[in-house]
Amino acid sequence: MIPLDLSLSDVPGLPVHAARLLGKEGVKTAADVVWHLPFRHEDRRQMQALAFQAGLQPACHHVLVTKTGTKFFGGRSGVFEAVVQHATGLLGQQLTLKWWNMPFMSRVLAEGQELIVYGVIKDTKGRLSMAHPEYEIIKGGADDDAEQIHTGRITPMYRLRGSITQKALRVAAWHVLQALPDAFVEDLLPTPSAEGEFAGMSRAKALKEVHFPTSTEGLEQAKRYLALEEFYGYQLRVARRKRQVIESGGRRQTGTGELLKDFFNELPFQLTAAQLRCLEEIHKDMASGNPMNRLLHGDVGSGKTVVAFAAMLRAVESGRQAVLMAPTQILAEQHARNARKWLEPLGLRVALRTGSKREDGDDLELMRGKNSTGKAEIVIGTHALLHDMELMHNTGIVVIDEQHKFGVAQRAKLIRKGDTPDVLVMTATPIPRTLTLTIYGDLEVSTIDQRPRDGVKIITKVRPKTKLKEAAKFLREQIEEGRQGYIVYALIDESDKLEAGAATKGHEEWSKLLAPCEVGLLHGRMSAEEKEDVMKRFRAGKLDALVSTTVIEVGIDVPNATVMFIHDAGRFGLAQLHQLRGRIGRGAHTSYCVLFVDDKDEENRQRLAIMEETSDGFQIAEEDLRRRGPGDVLGNAQSGQAPLLFGELLADTRLVRLARQLAERTLDEDPLLRRPALAAFRGEEVMAEKAQAMMQ
Ligand code: ADP
Ligand code: MG
Repeated sequence: MIPLDLSLSDVPGLPVHAARLLGKEGVKTAADVVWHLPFRHEDRRQMQALAFQAGLQPACHHVLVTKTGTKFFGGRSGVFEAVVQHATGLLGQQLTLKWWNMPFMSRVLAEGQELIVYGVIKDTKGRLSMAHPEYEIIKGGADDDAEQIHTGRITPMYRLRGSITQKALRVAAWHVLQALPDAFVEDLLPTPSAEGEFAGMSRAKALKEVHFPTSTEGLEQAKRYLALEEFYGYQLRVARRKRQVIESGGRRQTGTGELLKDFFNELPFQLTAAQLRCLEEIHKDMASGNPMNRLLHGDVGSGKTVVAFAAMLRAVESGRQAVLMAPTQILAEQHARNARKWLEPLGLRVALRTGSKREDGDDLELMRGKNSTGKAEIVIGTHALLHDMELMHNTGIVVIDEQHKFGVAQRAKLIRKGDTPDVLVMTATPIPRTLTLTIYGDLEVSTIDQRPRDGVKIITKVRPKTKLKEAAKFLREQIEEGRQGYIVYALIDESDKLEAGAATKGHEEWSKLLAPCEVGLLHGRMSAEEKEDVMKRFRAGKLDALVSTTVIEVGIDVPNATVMFIHDAGRFGLAQLHQLRGRIGRGAHTSYCVLFVDDKDEENRQRLAIMEETSDGFQIAEEDLRRRGPGDVLGNAQSGQAPLLFGELLADTRLVRLARQLAERTLDEDPLLRRPALAAFRGEEVMAEKAQAMMQ
């Protein structure tokens, strides 16, 4: 029996050369080996009995090399061939393995070796061949030992790096796992034996099974056990964070309802049923003695802003202040404009704080001058708010718009400045429903699942960029009907400067294409005043079209804009395209989005086809999930977190729920996390930050 931190060179039975080879690549301890999980398995149990058969599915065969040679076709290109037969020689069939342009293969493979090969067999007029198979030398290679490790079983396949070989890693895993006890004292899961599916399981058993499965069912069960363990750790942090927030104690904000009544009277529209339902959920939270920690989730254009304002009014009615933070200056200005339009008539003061407004400071002075003792009831700003905490006083609610655009620390800082305020975070990031439990595990979630103007259509087309002229003609027609359009240029992962350059060039081009219409330009390198001025003119209809970078991605709301052109759409993820497209279809008019891709870019045409089919963010998110797998989707959303080992099982809601239940039970029974295996979860600050990060 060995401990997990044992050095590989001390693992009984593990050949010295294998330990040395792995050590060179940083795989040094038993733990390094067991946590390097196989990325797939090959079923090598019945191989010898299988005849070589052409088909589409790759298969695994145990073969003997009978002949090797290289054929040249003129020039330098050649093909190395190894003729093989079944290792048992039983069937007398021949198969030719082929490697093109890999002359070194003649030094790797030789007659008399036994191999395991994995690939697709092709039949060319009765001659069977396999091109570039995966292979492994079983006998006659560098080491012949431990045959039962590699064949006659469900065999683990590992991702390799450096000079590590499949065999060395497998041999190491074999010996380490042989020497491990069946249970560690530090098993993470509390009492998994009680949970039917995992009866009798332990981390050590699961690891053994995942590396060297006894059956396919055993393998699946073991993977699920380890996934459960991983999700349990995740949920433990999230659930603990949630409890901490509740324990921090809040205030009841019940309000009088008077401001809200006036506000609703003033609005030019009625709230949708979905908006009302979400608002009710929010008000209920605010009225309770615990601090609210709620996510308002709603697709682009679903109308989150008015709901947020109504929540803020409830705080003001309760004698406290409301703060709203937005990720960009343009968006903060837009919110402030709405707040002034809707809330100032109710007698409320609205303060605005952005990076540039601090420089001129006029608005603030004005606001302070009005009432030198009091502070504004409504404070709106960008992250610049964080540097001007003076504005905050007796804050009852903090609203964070487009919360995924903020860093963990920024959100935490603003919340800390309030006096245990109620917190409402908002996002349009369409997370597939199956993942919300993980990502938003420490938040209550309200979803606006209905658009204010369900009838308004957005028509989306993917077009080759050669169709630009036609597109320009179409945009001009829309402009003649009084509408406006966005033309987006973006370079992913390039600097602001290059991006601004692309937009500037695009602006020249479009100014000509659309002359004499007025075309504006907006990018991140412009000064705050310039940006504000451009947005003001666009909003007022003085600009017919706006050439922009992705600075317009979040939040911008100009209902008269009905056209969105996106250049190089192939560079964007579906979620981001959906966000951008969300800038149109906000008024009463049918809207049009054109995604330009390279002429021959079939792959992106296919990928973007979903955008043509639906403008439902959830459906798009599901498609994203299907294409990229939950690990990837979550990886993005987590931004910066180490990817989960078992991310692909996150869509398994049952497993995630079980993890959550176990975590809650642990917190009930052992709130201080005294159990030794939980030591890593005790650190308060670190934990809170990590849990916060998961919200992203
Ligand atoms: P988002 O959820 O993307 O932040 P907004 O809050 O910007 O959406 O709202 C989108 C547009 O819809 C805005 O112009 C807003 O004034 C309008 N709107 C919001 N709610 C309603 C409603 N119930 N009926 C009609 N228009 C609405
Ligand atoms: Mg918004």
